[in-house]
Amino acid sequence: MNTIPPLDLTEQYRTIQPEVEAAVTAVLASGRYINGPVVEEFSRAFGDYIGTAECVACNSGTDALYLALRALDIGPGDEVITSPFTFIATTEVVSALGAVPVFIDIELDSFNLDPDQLEAAITPRTKAIMPVHLFGRPVDMDRVMAIAERHNLAVIEDCAQAAGAEWGDRKVGAIGHIGCFSFFPTKNLGGCGDGGALTTNDPQVAETVRMLREHGSRVRYYHEAIGVNSRLDALQAAILQIKLRHLEDWNAARQRVAERYQNLLAPIPGVVVPPAPVGGRSVWNQYTVRLEAAATAGGEWRDRVRQHLADQGVSSMIYYPLPLHHQPVYANLGYGPGSFPKSELAAQQVLALPMYPELTAAAQERVVYALKDALA
Ligand SMILES: *Cc1c(COP(=O)(O)O)cnc(C)c1O
Repeated sequence: MNTIPPLDLTEQYRTIQPEVEAAVTAVLASGRYINGPVVEEFSRAFGDYIGTAECVACNSGTDALYLALRALDIGPGDEVITSPFTFIATTEVVSALGAVPVFIDIELDSFNLDPDQLEAAITPRTKAIMPVHLFGRPVDMDRVMAIAERHNLAVIEDCAQAAGAEWGDRKVGAIGHIGCFSFFPTKNLGGCGDGGALTTNDPQVAETVRMLREHGSRVRYYHEAIGVNSRLDALQAAILQIKLRHLEDWNAARQRVAERYQNLLAPIPGVVVPPAPVGGRSVWNQYTVRLEAAATAGGEWRDRVRQHLADQGVSSMIYYPLPLHHQPVYANLGYGPGSFPKSELAAQQVLALPMYPELTAAAQERVVYALKDALA
């Protein structure tokens, strides 16, 4: 019996192999491997797709977040409000700059930060809000932007998992002051290596980021800031340019996969499915359910469920088993157990099922049958 993987990059590659090979060969023959015309073309195309005047490519989603904070001059003593239920990269860059991540709890339905809790977390040191569109699902950006404007705060959207997601009639990454994207291979728009980009309508921010990603120089060998080396390879840009043309179709296919899961899982007691967002569009980077019993039955029970699924040839993942405020590296922040009950509950209950555009209905039936069996 073949195992259904969490995602299958080889299947997608087969569908675009001739295009990708031709583009890669052309870059190899061009002799321009870092920055250059292909990177510029892709950056423009991606900015147009997201709907911003500016798009600056860089080496990773983590670097995009780092460069965004640097461009806004966020540093020691500053506070940045975000969710503790995300990948460490979101706050790693905040901490690396000597600023302090300030967490607020999530909504269980969306797994995203709860805008109702934003205002109470704002202090005179708050500089920015970092909403994370987790699993491809948009944060309620109307509420976030209204509060940010009232308090004169910058909004840096962590769009790493949400290329193409929409809130209202705009794409995420075009709503806050800066959008940060990752082109890590498992993201909705993923390259064949690391990559990232920032989107913004602020030409000043774009120009600063271009300077910082190039060792703090605008003119080569003249350095005005301590920058970094964070550029996108032309090979990655060439591949991403091809994949960008398919992104809408792939996101639509993910939507169909999600709808099939909703229907198949609805009759199973104890499995809480992620509701589709009202007012926006999720791009379903992950399809994450909550197993209600895990709250009392514990982590070992969930491990046994996963083992049972694995025995039936079904992969599953846990994003994320430990919220950031309980990570050893953040013990110094002093958030004890119960600080963010919904994030802690989510960490105990989540189970991500296989999700990728090419996932067939038959495979999904196998996933759901195995889950039903595991819970029985
Ligand atoms: C993947 C990811 C990042 C970091 O992106 P990289 O390209 O891997 O550096 C940041 N935030 C979130 C939410 C992510 O999922």
